[in-house]
Amino acid sequence: MGKLPPGVSASDFAAAVQLFKAAVGEEWVLTSDADVDPYRDTFSTVWGTPEERVPSGAVSPTTVEQVQAIVRAANRYKIPLFPISTGKNFAYGGPSPNLDGSVIVDLKRMNKIIEVDEGRHFALVEPGVSYFDLYRYIQDHGYKLWIDCPDPGWGSPVGNSLDHGIGYTLGFYRDHFGAHCGMEVVLASGEVMRTGMGAMPNAKSWQDYKYGYGPDPSGLFAQGNYGIVTKMGFRLMPQPEYYRTGMITVPKRQDFIQLVKTVNYLSDSFLIGEPIYGSPLRALMGNAAFRETLDKPAGPTDAEMDKFASDNNLHSWDVELQFYGPEKTCLATWEYAKDRFAADIPGAKSYEGENLKVPLTPRQMQNIDSPYPTGIRRNVAQGFPSLGVWKMLGRTSGYPDSDGTMQGHAGFIPIVPRTGEAVFEAQRVFGDTMKEFDLPRFGSALGTPVEWYQFAFQMGFVPSTSKTNPEHNLKVHKALRQMTEVAAEHGWGDYRVPPIYQDFVVNTYSFNNHVLRRFNETLKDAVDPNGILAPGRGGVWPQRFRGMRKI
Ligand SMILES: Cc1cc2nc3c(=O)[nH]c(=O)nc-3n(C[C@H](O)[C@H](O)[C@H](O)COP(=O)(O)OP(=O)(O)OC[C@H]3O[C@@H](n4cnc5c(N)ncnc54)[C@H](O)[C@@H]3O)c2cc1C
Repeated sequence: MGKLPPGVSASDFAAAVQLFKAAVGEEWVLTSDADVDPYRDTFSTVWGTPEERVPSGAVSPTTVEQVQAIVRAANRYKIPLFPISTGKNFAYGGPSPNLDGSVIVDLKRMNKIIEVDEGRHFALVEPGVSYFDLYRYIQDHGYKLWIDCPDPGWGSPVGNSLDHGIGYTLGFYRDHFGAHCGMEVVLASGEVMRTGMGAMPNAKSWQDYKYGYGPDPSGLFAQGNYGIVTKMGFRLMPQPEYYRTGMITVPKRQDFIQLVKTVNYLSDSFLIGEPIYGSPLRALMGNAAFRETLDKPAGPTDAEMDKFASDNNLHSWDVELQFYGPEKTCLATWEYAKDRFAADIPGAKSYEGENLKVPLTPRQMQNIDSPYPTGIRRNVAQGFPSLGVWKMLGRTSGYPDSDGTMQGHAGFIPIVPRTGEAVFEAQRVFGDTMKEFDLPRFGSALGTPVEWYQFAFQMGFVPSTSKTNPEHNLKVHKALRQMTEVAAEHGWGDYRVPPIYQDFVVNTYSFNNHVLRRFNETLKDAVDPNGILAPGRGGVWPQRFRGMRKI
């Protein structure tokens, strides 16, 4: 068995386990070391150290009534629970809890697709339904609907959205929590609550209007710990008739500022999907003179960067635009975009990409004839789940550990304003900070318009789970904390982190003497007096465990 929860005796824990077994059946309560091990965070930066958060066991229900029974048993013996849906939250803690000794409530077996409405464009699902499951269901039924998935398709709409996860099609759908429409939650009392129109018995429009009437508490359940979500609705995108792409390039470094403004205009006018920014200058990273210029204390000048671009016959920036809809409107919007960039930015050039009729052929789905042969981002932008990204950022690639294996990454993703100026500043500030740490890292070091209206400045740190390399992990751990602090000094807050960094990040959201955290914890104590639901999640600690906060 893993660690016991703090303040819980072995006999109380054993009594709770008996009640869990009575609720779900003996074989679905796991307490042996071998069974509990997979609920550790295999990407952990503190693997095998006293700081690692390790559960004591896991229980896996199949019905709402079983979830209620688990919660009631946990209340009786004051056992902290940690609910997960498919538990694939890698880079942000995997399935591991905030509090050592928590019992994982593994909802994978609650995997019913309750309803998909092709005319009103929504799905209502249980937590264990993965993106692959939902995609297959829609295909099997011939519905003309698309899902918006994160890079790895083995996660779940419920789990991903409850950690504010993101996708890659049109802005509205990319914000997975924003695109939810109604939820059912088992509260700490064991009662079942429905949000929005679902609060009305026999509601005919639960998934049509997520607010219902009065205060809407649904935001409390994402990156929070006020309930166990057992059903959730999601808006689905009508299958577009066409998918079209085009690329815009601009010659000079400073052109990035107007490039972002024009893209923001197209995006906020609902004309394009996710814009994908890039720079061919990244190909010069192997060039010693280029690296030296980048590493100068104040960073490179515009003239130096422009010279590297012109000497190498390269443009400075590009953005790939994606259009969804009828063939004629996709073409008309692309024509409009080309004119607009040409008028806004001297020297802007446009290049045709793909124009694909949907549904795609199997060959197109594999990107065989595409100008984008890796297809990693392509699939998710085209509405179907994949595990392609795993090749790039999973445990099989990246930075080799001392035993030759690769060990995933821990995300560091501060939110910066959606402007070119902000990206330049973030590049300079984070570049300078990272020079202190001799660490391999990856990431766009460029804004990604995650959830539409902001840039997520994506960086990843590569830990080592090999016990032979603890010094490396310590360095990663220190770098992550320092980067969070530096980001906060500049007004940039991280949007999503593994449990061991959550207190630290929440501590940077300190406006008016941490009133937000105090408000959340006042609510927590009122609705979960025994502090049994995911103590510490989102930096919200119940009274009973408040001393466990680590900042
Ligand atoms: C290479 C790589 C690429 C990635 N790309 C993306 C990406 O493009 N977009 C993205 O968003 N993420 C990405 N991730 C992160 C992660 O893999 C996904 O977000 C994944 O979908 C999360 O796992 P899950 O869906 O199984 O959620 P879970 O692990 O089940 O849930 C996440 C958290 O939500 C809470 N929770 C879950 N279910 C419930 C419930 N029913 N009730 C109450 N609380 C609950 C828990 O605290 C849990 O820890 C990536 C990770 C890697 C390693």
